[in-house]
Amino acid sequence: MRGARTAGGYLLRVEKGEELLSALAAFATRHDILAASLTAIGAVRDAELGYFYPEEQRYDRRRLAAEYELVHLSGNVSRRDGAPFVHAHAVLGGPALECLSGHLFSATVAVTVEVHLVPLGGPVERRLDPAVGIALLDLPEI
Ligand code: ZN
Repeated sequence: MRGARTAGGYLLRVEKGEELLSALAAFATRHDILAASLTAIGAVRDAELGYFYPEEQRYDRRRLAAEYELVHLSGNVSRRDGAPFVHAHAVLGGPALECLSGHLFSATVAVTVEVHLVPLGGPVERRLDPAVGIALLDLPEI
């Protein structure tokens, strides 16, 4: 990964072959980032997207081996079980300019991925909400 500081955070270039979410979590660890928002564009392959069925409390997961444009990724960094946790949703574009989208479980950088990451202070923790079936941001009433 390469990167530079910006006025509000970091501009990062994740390199071909890196697993995107792992690389971002490792960056958060190296730079003591406890909470952040992020957006990204680029190209990925071997992406795994998911759709959450609330009634069944499970994801339908789908692996996409081909290479796709990472048209848009948005997400955040929080803490879960003492480690950085990257929650991201992605829109992937194929050769017919069609799009697939969903919760991003993993993706390998195919060409490059350009990330704008903005630290938010924190820490912000995630905790499993048994009623929902996923780990939600643990935030107070506001
Ligand atoms: Zn999600």
